[in-house]
Amino acid sequence: MATVRDSMPSFDLYQPADLDAALALAGRLGPDGWLLAGGLDSLERFKDRHKTPKAVIDLGGVAELAGIRADGDDLVLGPMTTLTDVARHPLVRERFGLLARAAGEVASPQIRNQGTLGGNIAQDTRCWYYRAGWTCYRAGGNLCYADTPQGRNREHAILGASRCVAVSPSDTAPALVALEARLVIRNAAGRREVAAEDFFVGPDRDITRLTILKPGEVLGEIRLPPAWAGAPWAFEKVRDRPVWDFALVNCAAVLRTTGDRLDKARVVLGAVAARPWRLAAIEAAVAGRPRAEAAALAGRLAVAEARPLSHNGYKVTLAQNLVFRAIAGKEAA
Ligand SMILES: Cc1cc2nc3c(=O)[nH]c(=O)nc-3n(C[C@H](O)[C@H](O)[C@H](O)COP(=O)(O)OP(=O)(O)OC[C@H]3O[C@@H](n4cnc5c(N)ncnc54)[C@H](O)[C@@H]3O)c2cc1C
Repeated sequence: MATVRDSMPSFDLYQPADLDAALALAGRLGPDGWLLAGGLDSLERFKDRHKTPKAVIDLGGVAELAGIRADGDDLVLGPMTTLTDVARHPLVRERFGLLARAAGEVASPQIRNQGTLGGNIAQDTRCWYYRAGWTCYRAGGNLCYADTPQGRNREHAILGASRCVAVSPSDTAPALVALEARLVIRNAAGRREVAAEDFFVGPDRDITRLTILKPGEVLGEIRLPPAWAGAPWAFEKVRDRPVWDFALVNCAAVLRTTGDRLDKARVVLGAVAARPWRLAAIEAAVAGRPRAEAAALAGRLAVAEARPLSHNGYKVTLAQNLVFRAIAGKEAA
């Protein structure tokens, strides 16, 4: 089991000055290289000996990975953009208020000043058994310690569990899935672009990671297409304390309405599964209905397939209520 210490083991530190150099290093170092953004997830794990990389690639000097710009009709966000900048940027606020709000709901002002959008969506789960170094399924063992009658599983999954019941901790990930963001993944050989929805994976697909990122790959851009620009949206996050805490459940939604009718919606729950949980079947069932009826139906059916653990049944009710409120009209003006 990992031991908490006040200093971290040594590693080789690389500080590439541009993206080509970063990609070359990431390719050469492969699984021995650890990409460092704001360090809020990474450094804690190094200190706890949960991860002991041989080499760290600090992306802080790679200008191509930071900043927000319009590219045609898309809004392009560099993964090294801080969460504060995402939350405050005029173009994000004007076109994609949902993402600005989600970024602004992360943790505390200090963490948002240091933490990056890329790090926020690529961060690992906060399951304490896993983070404390227990040899659980996710860590290569053969038991999920949280999924036992005595397990501490109040914050864990109610959906999509497969051996492991850890959840995705990110507040921005559900917003990006709702907005149909596209993520550009770079490596030394080229690039690939995936829908945000396909970027995140559950334990049924890969129990050792929360995203499809492979060693040697760098998240290069987060692209927001115009599909939902300016559309009404809703974001709610329930947590134990008003600041600092991770979500117990969050809900991100974008809506198209005509008068009282809900034409179309994308609704995504966070912190209920290892990946953002899009309610695609619910979206289809409620499209075209009067909004109040759609909200009631969506709330009732939202997590019908949930399988709560010994201590997290409350998440079912929370998720139902957040989905109801998102569709009923809690969205910002
Ligand atoms: C006390 C505390 C409370 C928090 N509360 C919340 C919360 O309420 N909601 C929430 O959403 N988050 C929360 N967080 C997480 C925080 O918001 C950070 O965003 C997150 O930990 C990682 O961001 P970072 O920039 O520090 O990334 P890092 O720690 O540097 O990196 C995180 C991971 O992302 C990978 N990575 C980073 N950039 C790239 C890239 N460009 N390409 C590929 N991989 C990359 C790294 O290799 C690493 O695996 C909290 C963190 C702390 C410490």
